[in-house]
Order: sequence, then structure tokens, then C-alpha cells
Amino acid sequence: RAKEKGRNTSEFFTVELQDQARRTLQIETDLRAAMVKGELSLHYQPKVDLASGEIVGAEALLRWQHPERGAMSPAEFIPVAEETDLIVEVGHWVLDAALGQQVAWREQALATLPVAVNLSVREFRQPDLVDLIARKLAEHRIDPSLLELEITEGVSLDDSIGVVEVMQRLRKLGVAMAIDDFGTGYSSLSYLKRFSINDLKIDQSFVRALDGDNQAIVTAIVGVARGLGFSTTAEGIETAEQLAFLKRQGCKCGQGYYFSRPVPADEFAALLRQPKAYTDLISPV
Ligand code: C2E
Ligand code: MG
Ligand code: MG
Ligand code: MG
Repeated sequence: RAKEKGRNTSEFFTVELQDQARRTLQIETDLRAAMVKGELSLHYQPKVDLASGEIVGAEALLRWQHPERGAMSPAEFIPVAEETDLIVEVGHWVLDAALGQQVAWREQALATLPVAVNLSVREFRQPDLVDLIARKLAEHRIDPSLLELEITEGVSLDDSIGVVEVMQRLRKLGVAMAIDDFGTGYSSLSYLKRFSINDLKIDQSFVRALDGDNQAIVTAIVGVARGLGFSTTAEGIETAEQLAFLKRQGCKCGQGYYFSRPVPADEFAALLRQPKAYTDLISPV
């Protein structure tokens, strides 16, 4: 009986693993096709200066309208792409789309603001990353200062690829660098001083639940960043209370549904046409 049960359990796990593997493979195949079929797009979320309410940048976020599954979250398909080199192709697509959009906005004579693009760990580890970025900027004739690269803390854990050197070369090229989801990883603070970054993005998990502990963490992050000469951006601001606290702590910028969800490029252009879009939301502290 026990033997039978054991076999059934392992059969159950085998089936589940097979399902998982099949799903992963399917997403991979579909994602490859999605790039040519035009199912991918970028949405843009404004980055807002918390002192003035002005839009000072945008974060490009990948969207996939899957023919059968509907809107797929990048949190679901980016990790799948990460498992293979497919992420590199996706990254090329994202860079071209983001820089192409910059060109379009420039042609519409809209304010030219830096656009931030997310890079996964595997993308950051491409041996020719710096050349790729330089080439794409040149192809689109975009000033390097109009591109920001967001990498997660995870990148820093393994220095075998010379993370510090790659960052320095990117900064020398003139692109801005940010550490995304800061505070959730395991990197030690002493790492930060070696990084040539511009901005620390405080993970939204701290902002969402601003209890005593998280308030202390946010205060500490803003303090360390200030001391090291980095600016700070709070992610996931949804309420006036969260905004007020972050302003009081001297956090420089913020993003979140309180200001705007990530929106399609044309909607973002409409926001750019009213540069004072958020000044009313920023009450003086
Ligand atoms: P992220 O870079 O940390 O992006 C922030 C995520 O929080 C986005 O989710 C955004 O839509 C969401 N968000 C923004 N404001 C709020 C808010 O006020 N409340 C809540 N609850 N959420 C908010 P999204 O677009 O689903 O992206 C998830 C993650 O997928 C990103 O996290 C990023 O790590 C990754 N990702 C997205 N686009 C790309 C891409 O083009 N390349 C790579 N490598 N990764 C990407
Ligand atoms: Mg990001
Ligand atoms: Mg983040
Ligand atoms: Mg993230």
C-alpha cells in the first residue's frame, strides 16, 4: 500500500514537472514568435520629481498580448526567457523599441527625458553588452544620457564578470545606471560604494506597507544613498500618505499608481504635453 502510494506520489510529481516543462517550452516558442508577430509592446511609467511634481523620466515596461493567454505579465515570461539565450533577443527588441520611441518623441518635439530600460542578470552578463548599447545608441542617434539601465541587486552578487568594470564602462559611455528593487537582495552596503550608479530604486514592498520597520529601512536607504551621492526613487507609490512620508525623508523621485500606471506610448506623450501634470498631487510638506 505504502509502495503504491509512493509510486503514485512520484508519478504525480513527474506529471507536474512535465506540465511545467511543457509550459516553459511553449512560452519560449510563443515569445520567439511574438517578437516578429508584433505582440510585444512597451508601456511607460512616469518617474516624478517628488519636490516639484514634474515628470523627469520614464521606465519602459514590456507588455505581451498573447493570442490565447491574453495579457501576460513580464514577471511570468521574463524568467522563462532568462532560462535561455532568448532573453538576449528580447533585450535587443526592448532596446530598439525604447530608443525608437525616443526618436519618435523627439520628432514630435516633446520633452526629451531619459528612458529607463530593465536589464536582467543574464542580459547584464553578455560579454558584448557595452558594445551593444553603444551601437544601438549610435544607430538611433540618441544621446547616451537619455538612456538609463536598471539592474537588480542580484547582478552584484557574483563579481566574476567584473560587474564594477562593466558599470564603469557604461557610465563612461554616458548612460545612467540604477539599482532596481533595492533592499530585497542580499548584497552588502559596502558593495554600493564601488558601483558607479546614479540612482537607487527602493523596492515597492517597503513602500506598500510603511509600518515602523519599513519606515526605518526606507529612511536608512535614503540616508546611505545621499551619503554615497546617489539619488533615490521610490517604487510603487499608491497613496498620498506614502508620498508624504517619502518626501519628508528626502527621497528624490517616485513612481507608482498614485501618479500613473505604466501607459502606452501615445498616452505617455499626452502626459508630456502637460508638464505640470502632477504638481497638484504634490502638496507642500
Ligand atoms: P520592475 O522593474 O521593478 O518594475 C516595477 C513593476 O511594478 C512593474 O510591473 C510596474 O507595472 C509595477 N508597478 C508600478 N507602480 C506600481 C504601483 O503603484 N503598485 C503596484 N502594485 N505595482 C506597480 P511589471 O510591468 O509587471 O514588471 C514586472 C517586472 O518585470 C519588472 O519589475 C522588471 O523586473 C521586469 N521587466 C519588465 N519589463 C522588462 C524588460 O523589458 N526587460 C527585462 N529584463 N525585465 C523587464
Ligand atoms: Mg525596473
Ligand atoms: Mg523595481
Ligand atoms: Mg522587479
